[in-house]
Amino acid sequence: MDVRTYDIDGFTEGLVEHGLIVPTGIRGAYGRGPVFEDILRSFNDLVSRIAAPDKAQELMFPPILARSLIEKVGYMDNFPQLAGSVHSFMGSDREARELSARAHAGERWEELLSPTDVMLTPAACYPVYPTFSGLLPEGGRLVTVMNWVFRHEPSDEPTRLQHFRMREFIRVGKPEDVVKWRDAWLERGLKLLEGLGLPVQSDVASDPFFGRAGRMMAAGQVEQRLKFEILCPVISREKPTAICSFNWHQDHFSSKFGIRNADASVAHTACLGFGLERVTLALIKAHGFDPADWPDRVRSQLWP
Ligand code: AMP
Ligand code: ZN
Repeated sequence: MDVRTYDIDGFTEGLVEHGLIVPTGIRGAYGRGPVFEDILRSFNDLVSRIAAPDKAQELMFPPILARSLIEKVGYMDNFPQLAGSVHSFMGSDREARELSARAHAGERWEELLSPTDVMLTPAACYPVYPTFSGLLPEGGRLVTVMNWVFRHEPSDEPTRLQHFRMREFIRVGKPEDVVKWRDAWLERGLKLLEGLGLPVQSDVASDPFFGRAGRMMAAGQVEQRLKFEILCPVISREKPTAICSFNWHQDHFSSKFGIRNADASVAHTACLGFGLERVTLALIKAHGFDPADWPDRVRSQLWP
C-alpha cells in the first residue's frame, strides 16, 4: 500500500467532518473542537495519575524562550530549519506609515520588523534546564511541564503540526539514575499506551539535525541509543508515527548550565515527551471518531 496515501484523506476529512479539528488555512495549525480537547486533556490527566507516585515538580512556562537560551542550547546549530523567531516593529513614525502603506498595497513589509529578545519554544523541556543550575539535592530532581511548542514543518498530514502540545518529564541526576529512570518510563509508556488499545512498538530514533554534519550527529545518536520513540500507526501502517520520545542528553545541558550532583560530579539529564495531539489522533484512529463508541476498558481509564 502507498505510504503517502494510506487512509490519509479519509482520516483527515473524517476529523474535520466530526468537528474534531477545524482547518485554519495554515498547514499544520488547525483548531481543535471540544471532543478533541476532551480526549487530549483526559490523556494528559491519565499520565498525571500514573506518574503521581514519582512526585514530579509541576512547572508552567510561557511558549516563548529567550533568544539567548535558544543560542545556548545549540538550537540554531542543530535545528535552524525548525526555528520560529518573534519579530516586532521598533521603528519611527515614518517607518510605521511605510509599513502600513506596504501592507495595504499587498507589498512585502517584513524587512521593517526587527527581531525581539524571544523565540517560540521548540521543546517544552528547554526552559527547565536553567532552573537546575548549581548543586542538585541528593537524588537529583524530577520536573514535569506541559506546553505549546513551535516547529517550522508545514505539512498536510494531521499528525505533523507546526504548533502542538508536549507533556514532558525531565529528570536530572547521576548518570545511572537517569538511565534507569528513562528505561523504566519506556516500559511504563508502552504499557500505558498498549492499555489504551494502541498497537505501539518502541525503537531507537534520531533527531532531524540539519545538513550533512547533522546526518553524522543523527547516526551517532542512534549508535549510542540516546533517543527512543514509541511508534503507532496513525496515517500509515508502514511508517508509524512517533507519539512519545525518550531522550538521554548525557551532559549536553548540564555542562552548559553548570548542573552538578550533590557530590559535585557532573549531572546527566533525560526527558520524555508525549506528543499530545499525536496521542489523541492515534486514539481516534484506533477506536473511531466518536469516543462514546470506544471500548469500555479505554473509556474507563480516560474518563474514570
Ligand atoms: P521530539 O522532541 O522531537 O522527540 O518530539 C517529542 C514528541 O512530540 C514526539 O514524540 C511527537 O509525539 C511529538 N511531535 C514531534 N514533532 C511533531 C509535529 N511536527 N507535530 C506533532 N507532534 C510532534
Ligand atoms: Zn525534552
